[in-house]
Amino acid sequence: MPRRPVSAANWKMNLGGAEAIRLSESLAELENPGEVDVVIAPSPSLLPAVAAALGGHPAIRVAGQNMHHADSGAFTGETSPLQLAEFAQWVILGHSERRQYFCEDETALQAKLDAAERHGLTPILCVGETQTERDEGRTEAVLNRQLSILGPDSPDDLVIAYEPVWAIGSGEPATTETAQEVAGSIRAKLASLIGAERAESTRILYGGSVKPGNVGAFAAQPDVDGALVGGASLEADSFIAITRAIAGA
Ligand code: PEP
Repeated sequence: MPRRPVSAANWKMNLGGAEAIRLSESLAELENPGEVDVVIAPSPSLLPAVAAALGGHPAIRVAGQNMHHADSGAFTGETSPLQLAEFAQWVILGHSERRQYFCEDETALQAKLDAAERHGLTPILCVGETQTERDEGRTEAVLNRQLSILGPDSPDDLVIAYEPVWAIGSGEPATTETAQEVAGSIRAKLASLIGAERAESTRILYGGSVKPGNVGAFAAQPDVDGALVGGASLEADSFIAITRAIAGA
């Protein structure tokens, strides 16, 4: 069965309430996006307003950018999966900024992945190497470590985003050859972790300086099933163009 592509927006810690509502309302006008899952990940404080402004659009889902693994408790500043699931259907886990600035490691991510499954949230697990790791020939070892939290019990609807850290926000995307090569090796690794059949149906996204002008070439790669988009998702026209390109690839 063909894999349904994904166009995912990571707004990061951007936009005020009024801007987020305006952008959501523009995205809600997206008619017939085609065969694509559209996912919008705002900051936690914006989730209720964004969910309301999207008005239950049939093709658009809301996502968290992160969450705690516990349902509730004394974890100041955190968002629980229960709280997230009131407004969101998806969750981004292990973004490189979470790994780099908030010390997220495999143990924490394993617990978050389990929590996503418990609460019916579709996880986008981000993986990717830094420039130094790539230069030292450690890309595969790093990805294998990041993927090692997966196994036969991992969520069926798991989505992987390959985001080379050096390409995020740099304006220097990976080449389409690199994106395909790494996505292909991620799929091969998935086969050994979750089984060949599930590996074949798992969506693998590329992320890192995706723009309307380059996304079509990424999405056309055989093992790339869409994109996770940061900066270029903050403008309605740009994200809609990206989404249409992914749907048409
Ligand atoms: C991201 O933060 O996930 C990302 C891919 O950012 P950008 O598109 O801005 O490189």
